[in-house]
Amino acid sequence: MIVMKFGGSSVANAERIRHVAEIIQTYKDELPAVVLSAMGDTTDHLLEAADMAVNGTVDIEKVEKLHFDTAKELEIEVPAIKELLDELKTLLTGISMLKELSKRSRDYLVSFGERMSVRMMAAYLTKLGTPAKFYDAWDIGMVSDSNYMAAELLDEVWDNIPKYLNDYKNGKQKEIPIITGFIAKDKHGTITTLGRGGSDLSATMIGSAMGAKEIQTWKDVDGIMTTDPRLVKDAKPVPEVTYEEAQELAIFGAQVLHPRSMIPCRKTGTPVRVKNSYNIKSEGTLIVEKHTGTVPAVTAITKVKNVTLIDIQSSRMLGAAGFLAHIFNQFLKWNISIDVIATSEVSVSLTVNTKADLSGLLEDLGRVAEVKATGDKAIITVICDASHSSAILAKAFDALNKEGINVQMISQGASKVNVSFLVDMAEADKTVQVVHAALF
Ligand code: ADP
Ligand code: ASP
Ligand code: MG
Repeated sequence: MIVMKFGGSSVANAERIRHVAEIIQTYKDELPAVVLSAMGDTTDHLLEAADMAVNGTVDIEKVEKLHFDTAKELEIEVPAIKELLDELKTLLTGISMLKELSKRSRDYLVSFGERMSVRMMAAYLTKLGTPAKFYDAWDIGMVSDSNYMAAELLDEVWDNIPKYLNDYKNGKQKEIPIITGFIAKDKHGTITTLGRGGSDLSATMIGSAMGAKEIQTWKDVDGIMTTDPRLVKDAKPVPEVTYEEAQELAIFGAQVLHPRSMIPCRKTGTPVRVKNSYNIKSEGTLIVEKHTGTVPAVTAITKVKNVTLIDIQSSRMLGAAGFLAHIFNQFLKWNISIDVIATSEVSVSLTVNTKADLSGLLEDLGRVAEVKATGDKAIITVICDASHSSAILAKAFDALNKEGINVQMISQGASKVNVSFLVDMAEADKTVQVVHAALF
């Protein structure tokens, strides 16, 4: 058995769905379980519709048109989609009356995208003579906590999934399972989502729990690239990365994988392949536990925008040990998570997401230290073999120096596969381009 996950861009319209159906049929003998995202930009459109509803307007024309047009072009009747769209309209009307949208309602609302796409694909494959059956995530036991918009799957999912998919794996069930990515239900039966891009995690969870031979995530790029190809035209596909490298890449801003998607497959050692549905022949990227050949010195470059730098300088009130303890406790108290950090005995520089409300934290920190917060920064991360970090940084910084770009804070992750530094946000894209040119 294998798991094949197709992202939004791979199933964006009727033509793409036809193409994906063909790919799925090619792999029929491998017993694929298919995980789908919402079609195209449906998730974004649903979120826009939600914001409009809060302001009093109910409008799902874009989403409705895309799904009706697609079904028509594929020449399939999917009454379930009409039913879901009606339910969606009722929900939006409710929101427009209340003029209020909780995280919980938001998750319920975006779940319609994935629920519609699996119904579409199952109907189309069946019409082609390849019997397929759609599943909402909870139909195969995807249970999560109630942390809406970023829910964590519960451990019991490992036992649940095989209960529902073993018949398929053993050949008793003939219909190919077409399963919603991204969504789950909590213990109370309320719909949750795993965070944007969460279908990757759904796929790795299902593949790992089922002991799949391979988990394939099909995208619109030739695998994991040396950097975001939208930013650097000659970014190259990376043939092999480790789970750890893939995880760092995702955490430090590469949209290509969900940050938590490596957790399940890392536990079981299930290989993941990132492939291009627009270019089937390309090998893509294989994600494995350990590099099979020599460890590449540099793997990829990523960036995270909208970062605020906080510099904290101890006043004499606290000793060195108490200083750090106190600082971290304040972050805990205000529930603000730190991304990158660099310290000396009496000072510490760290970064947080600009969206976080820092007022309370800064006031508390200000009582025992000199504190300065500066917004509009970006974190640039080089995923590399840290045993070569001096040489790599020398090259990168030399190139940046020549371009007059100033690096503001440097931090090497404990995982030994990343080095991060800070630059002004206005220079972030250029920094990635300059460092990419210098290192590749
Ligand atoms: P999907 O919808 O299939 O989940 P995503 O849009 O979430 O796909 O992720 C693929 C996109 O990630 C690519 O189109 C590319 O623009 C972007 N991306 C950013 N960094 C990288 C990278 N290092 N390698 C590959 N793609 C990247
Ligand atoms: N449709 C969801 C999103 O756009 C989940 C995913 O595509 O992985 O974030
Ligand atoms: Mg994605």
